[in-house]
Amino acid sequence: MAKTLIEIDLSQSPYKNEAIHNRWHPDIPIIAWVKPGDDFIVQTYDWTGGFIKNDESADDVRDIDLTIVHFLSGPIGVTGAEPGDLLVVDLLDVGALPESLWGFNGFFSKQNGGGFLTDHFPLAQKSIWDISGLYTHSRHVPGVRFAGLIHPGLIGCLPDQKLLDTWNKRELDFIATNPNRVPPLAAPPFGATAHCGTAKGDVRAKVAAEGARTVPPREHGGNCDIKDLSRGSKIYFPVYVKGGGLSMGDLHFSQGDGEITFCGAIEMAGWLHIKVDIIKDGMAKYGIKNPIFKPSPITPTYNNYLIFEGISVDEWGKQHYLDVHVAYRQACLNAIEYLTKFGYSKAQAYAILLGRRRYSQCLRDLVAADRHLRFRCHAECGGADQARHGRSGHTDVSGQITAIGVASAGLRRRSGSFHIEHLKGGPPCRFTSTCATTAARSRGRERWRNMICRPIVRNAVSARHASC
Ligand code: ZN
Repeated sequence: MAKTLIEIDLSQSPYKNEAIHNRWHPDIPIIAWVKPGDDFIVQTYDWTGGFIKNDESADDVRDIDLTIVHFLSGPIGVTGAEPGDLLVVDLLDVGALPESLWGFNGFFSKQNGGGFLTDHFPLAQKSIWDISGLYTHSRHVPGVRFAGLIHPGLIGCLPDQKLLDTWNKRELDFIATNPNRVPPLAAPPFGATAHCGTAKGDVRAKVAAEGARTVPPREHGGNCDIKDLSRGSKIYFPVYVKGGGLSMGDLHFSQGDGEITFCGAIEMAGWLHIKVDIIKDGMAKYGIKNPIFKPSPITPTYNNYLIFEGISVDEWGKQHYLDVHVAYRQACLNAIEYLTKFGYSKAQAYAILLGRRRYSQCLRDLVAADRHLRFRCHAECGGADQARHGRSGHTDVSGQITAIGVASAGLRRRSGSFHIEHLKGGPPCRFTSTCATTAARSRGRERWRNMICRPIVRNAVSARHASC
């Protein structure tokens, strides 16, 4: 059994654990050293460090201070890794902690984070998903279960000072183009809630003042949110500091290609079993500026699903030019509307779906607004029709769609369908809020660019991944 390098205690605040940090900075001290070829286990908090509870209220999603995230385990140093090398990370296995077999999804309030469909779902909501081996189901979205593919949403190495300065400059410059935007275009350093690992004194003050927030993915990796980055995956990280300084967290039980609700995966605490190695001078040798991800040789098979199309015409009938954002939103809305015909509230439908974007071919196709959402209807057991008629059994929704959160704050009971518990303490029967996996992360155009470009980058890495 591999040794556990970083342990967490879910009953304690991550701020009390010095093997955790929530900023990127070269001066965050390495918490543990390993050698090339070593394998070990790293435990991680969920991205909010336990702030979101397994209960019936979405107040925590509404009220969370988003400057505290993401809580990461690390940094881990690999002996011999020098700037210019590649750090090779084999993700041998990943799983849930036995004492925490559940995850959550949240729609963020328009006033606090928002999301991809935030104008349609402006209120905070959440859904809790119980984990049972490969499968998950939710008391907040009755009649649905699906197989998950656990993966880290966030994994990366520490930047050097030059790279950090570059990030801070370009992001602050970007914020300055529209400083009053809500939500802001980017998340600047914020010292008050910084968790700097074991850094103390002046070093800690510097890390807190300069440390990059963990929201966007950058050259070092970070918040990549690649839903297929599961057991058997391999990642090649550029090394910017001595030892690499590898950190990870933000585990997802399942996620669509679009984290449409912002907190758009099923977020969970858990563990990763990884192995590390080094390729000397690998950055120059392979021309690598950003990490390369090689997904698992085993992929889920989903062969029974529907595709919803969105076109580049918005809700108000206005035509847009090559606007994949608009098109994807329409695909989401079309799928949500369809699911409401089977007894689901819009929020539940949103939570079920938020899934998978399929870029079916290449950029040119996006002209036709080729953003699709896919979900699987389990025809054999009656699927959605079965749910509508209140029969027992589940509608299998494929992980390709990723189930995303749902409302905890007052679910509407729809005619004659399955039983939906009325939840206490939340806002009245309103459904709303969201996040777009990407919208989620898209706190600005820069993020949208990241989203749009990502599949193309992935195509370059692996043709098999062209459907992401
Ligand atoms: Zn996450």
